[in-house]
Amino acid sequence: MTTDQLVQDSQINLHDWGQERGIKYFMVNFTDILGTQRTKLVPIRAIGRMQENGAGFAGFAGGMDYTPSHPDMLVMPDADAVVQLPWQPDMAWVPGNPVMKNEYSAQAPRNVLRKQIADAAEMGLHFKIGVEPEFSLLNCDGTAVGDTLDTRRKPCYDQQAMMRNYHIIRETSDYMHELGWGCYQSDHEDANGQWEMNWDFDDVLTMADQLSFFKFMIKYVAEKHGMRASFMPKPLPGLTGNGLHAHISAWDGMGEDAKTNLFAGEGDTPAGRHGLSELGGHFLGGILKHGSGMTVICCPTVNSYKRIGAASTASGATWAPNSITWAGDNRTHLVRVPGGGRMELRLPDGATNPYLMPAVIMAAGLSGVRNKVDPGESHDMDQVIDESKVKDAAQLPQNMWEGLRTFESDTELTKSMGDEFAKGFVKLKQKEWNDYAMHFTQWERDHTLDI
Ligand code: ADP
Ligand code: MG
Ligand code: MG
Ligand code: MG
Ligand code: MG
Repeated sequence: MTTDQLVQDSQINLHDWGQERGIKYFMVNFTDILGTQRTKLVPIRAIGRMQENGAGFAGFAGGMDYTPSHPDMLVMPDADAVVQLPWQPDMAWVPGNPVMKNEYSAQAPRNVLRKQIADAAEMGLHFKIGVEPEFSLLNCDGTAVGDTLDTRRKPCYDQQAMMRNYHIIRETSDYMHELGWGCYQSDHEDANGQWEMNWDFDDVLTMADQLSFFKFMIKYVAEKHGMRASFMPKPLPGLTGNGLHAHISAWDGMGEDAKTNLFAGEGDTPAGRHGLSELGGHFLGGILKHGSGMTVICCPTVNSYKRIGAASTASGATWAPNSITWAGDNRTHLVRVPGGGRMELRLPDGATNPYLMPAVIMAAGLSGVRNKVDPGESHDMDQVIDESKVKDAAQLPQNMWEGLRTFESDTELTKSMGDEFAKGFVKLKQKEWNDYAMHFTQWERDHTLDI
């Protein structure tokens, strides 16, 4: 395959599109394996060439499993996903699909997701997803809540805090409005300094791009106002962590062509009684079956494991799951089925990669569909008060190392995500773990000095 054949099949000519809107510069963007967004700033005079040939990046310098001796990774802009920056209208942001040696890089997260989308389409399924990003507005060095008056013990939905932080939340909400995302609510969440903003669900690739853009945008707005927006899963000990719940449904088409929600249905099974079709039940079965294997993609950092399986926080509860169970409208399980036709995976946290998270949900769920996996009984009692009901359920990995091992040994999942991706992800993440394990802590001294 040549890069000519890899030029994105789009009606949009980025140069002409930019000229019509007064764009001077494009950020050609990709998200690496570790979840960092990287960019090249391309003046409009050169964007035509980039649309044809891609923007060059040294893969090793970004968080990819390439060596310094690999040729450049070329990021082919996906013109259909281009966005004019609402706060800087002479700039545009365009995510792209990385290419290595004339092939789509099988380890690049956006390509991993596109493969799942293609696999699902072959089965006649088109997924839509809605995400709930939680984030903390911290001081600039990230050590404390940025709003020093935000000290309430149960701060969820705090009206005074909303007023004090209105300038940041409103500005971001306005931008979402300009982008046509259908932002419908924003609130102060359960931890001091913690916020969540919600907008309408959409096709899975669109949502992955929107989530990336949202992170870019809220960080920019917060910085402008002297704060730091952090998606760190547990930025402050003892306070509720930053989750990133994902709601998912399957349809008979994409965009406007989606007419029927294929997850909606009923029947005399536990899933059917919660408003899921047989297909939805099998998808749920796949998520539960691969719940442990997919954890390290959804909860990818050392810090992530201080959120899942956490003790109760200052507000009195933990909202993060620790066992592999599902229920109806109940916020203490891995999967919640809040109404007919969709399920909410409560496992992902703010550190999850916006492309890999939906990809692994699809990989797990589709394996359930292929193998007609039964999701089993729901656990509709609150597990906080009925621990006996969930004590026999499988538990999630306790740390990143265990997460990596369970991912590696779930070969059905790694095959579906792609061997090259799985190998690269585990390699880079293992390096991160080794680095952490070599870090000398005060805890060790406290517990070992006088042994
Ligand atoms: P909660 O806090 O109750 O879990 P939110 O209102 O914060 O819920 O977020 C719900 C998310 O689910 C939103 O992004 C919404 O667009 C999305 N959603 C609603 N219906 C569907 C559906 N059928 N498929 C996918 N996502 C959906
Ligand atoms: Mg150079
Ligand atoms: Mg929510
Ligand atoms: Mg929330
Ligand atoms: Mg939720």
